Amino acid sequence: MAFNIAIDGPAGAGKSTIAKLVAKELSYIYVDTGAMYRAMALYFLRAGIAAGDKEKITAACGKITVTLSNEGGEQQVFLNGENVNGFIRTEEVGKMTSAVSIYAPVREKLTQLQREMARTTDLIMDGRDIGTCVLPQAQVKIYLTASVETRGRRRFLELQEKGTDCSLEEICEDIKKRDYRDMTREISPLKQAKDAILVDSSEMSIDEVVAKILEIVRDAT
Ligand code: C5P
Repeated sequence: MAFNIAIDGPAGAGKSTIAKLVAKELSYIYVDTGAMYRAMALYFLRAGIAAGDKEKITAACGKITVTLSNEGGEQQVFLNGENVNGFIRTEEVGKMTSAVSIYAPVREKLTQLQREMARTTDLIMDGRDIGTCVLPQAQVKIYLTASVETRGRRRFLELQEKGTDCSLEEICEDIKKRDYRDMTREISPLKQAKDAILVDSSEMSIDEVVAKILEIVRDAT
C-alpha cells in the first residue's frame, strides 16, 4: 500500500515550499493540488466564463483535462495537453481559483484524479481538503498554518523580489478574504482534520518545519 502524507492549510502558510523539501528528503512525489485548481480556473478565465456562472462552469468541466508530470522534482501541470505552469501563479488566477473551487463538478473532477495518484504512489500532497476529504486514510496528516501577518509579510517580500508594486495591507486583506472563502464554502471547506497534527510556522524557519514534519513521518512508520 502506498504511503501518503497530506498537508493542508491556508494560503501562504508555506505548504508547497515545505512539501517539496520533505518530498525530496523522502524521495516521494510531491503533488500540488492548488496548481490543478489553478489550471481549471485558467481555462474558465480564458474562455471568458464568469466565476459566478455555475451553469457554464459545470458544462465546461467536461471539456477540461488536467494532467501532471514530474520533471526533476518539479511538478508540471497540463491543461488539455498544454503546459500551463507559467500562467497559473498570477493574482488574477489565484482569485479566480478560490472563487470557482466552491463548485462540486470542479472538485469532483480533481478529487478523483488525486485519489488515483495516491492509490499507487508514495506521495506528499498539499491542498485544502486532502486530509479531510481526498485522502482520509493518509498515514500522516499535517495542518500547516501561520498568522495572517506572517503570511502577508512572506507574500509581500516575494512580490517585492519580483519587482511587483504592492501594499502589505492589501495583501493581508486579500489573504483574509481567501481564508474566509476557503474555510466557509459548503463543499470540502479548509479545516483541520480531527487526526491531523497542527504545525504553526509563524515563528519557525523553513528548516525547522521540515525537520518537524520528518520527525512526525518517522514516528508514523
Ligand atoms: O494552494 P494554492 O494557493 O495554489 O490554491 C489556490 C486555491 O485553490 C485555494 O485558495 C483554494 O480555493 C483552491 N484549492 C482548493 N482545494 C485544494 C487546493 C486548492 O480548493 N485541495
